[in-house]
Amino acid sequence: MIKVSGLKKAFNNIEVLKDINFEVNDGETVAIIGPSGSGKSTLLRCLNYLEKPDAGLISIGGVTAETKKVKKSTINRLRMETAMVFQHYNLFKNKTALDNITYPLAASKKAGSEEAVKIGERLLRQVGILDKAKHYPVSLSGGQQQRVGIARALAVDPHALLFDEPTSSLDPEWVGEVLKVISDISKNDKTMIIVTHEMDFAREIADRVIFMADGNIVEEGHPGEVFDDPQNERTRKFLKNYT
Ligand code: ATP
Ligand code: MG
Repeated sequence: MIKVSGLKKAFNNIEVLKDINFEVNDGETVAIIGPSGSGKSTLLRCLNYLEKPDAGLISIGGVTAETKKVKKSTINRLRMETAMVFQHYNLFKNKTALDNITYPLAASKKAGSEEAVKIGERLLRQVGILDKAKHYPVSLSGGQQQRVGIARALAVDPHALLFDEPTSSLDPEWVGEVLKVISDISKNDKTMIIVTHEMDFAREIADRVIFMADGNIVEEGHPGEVFDDPQNERTRKFLKNYT
């Protein structure tokens, strides 16, 4: 499971995360929604210490990191428990689709080179682009690149998958195929947090929705509760823009 308590982060003395507390159960899919600038990406990036929190406790899988006394080795173990899928894919441009997956596997010593190729091919098949294994990112569509990004995240078999607006750089024609892949993964009992502006998708895929505003969790609940009967004025105002 994921447990976050008392998480705080400021940039230049401006508090971007103000005492964030939440849990995600094993196999649960949580969607985080909220206005631009509310701290969603910063929250995700703090979970694996891409951004160092100022205070708080983060526990993912069996690894617990307390900001005040965190060691480098704990951060490394925390990172092994998570994999992130980014808005802009962040693929290695000079590596093929397959190598984008096998490289981190070999680098993290999670698989030998032959096994890494097997895992890479299985995952490319799973996301529907095994025929593109030898292609470089430049010759792939946005949707195909993001599917490589998702396969790469799955390859290290992390405790939790973290998605930061995985479809928001895509041309509309590619959004559906990527959402389908993510939806299929969510059915496989993976623990997932997805920051998204796709409200219909969040409603369909999430077991729970968290609404953030101004660095706080303002409201959380079952998608039916949050979307159909929001309790907080800010949630109501935000959701109005999507209907
Ligand atoms: P969006 O929906 O637009 O992606 P977000 O909810 O993901 O927004 P964040 O990217 O977490 O928001 O940013 C929260 C606030 O923190 C913003 O005001 C942003 O300008 C600020 N911020 C984020 N990263 C940094 C940084 N590295 N340095 C300074 N300020 C930052
Ligand atoms: Mg963001």
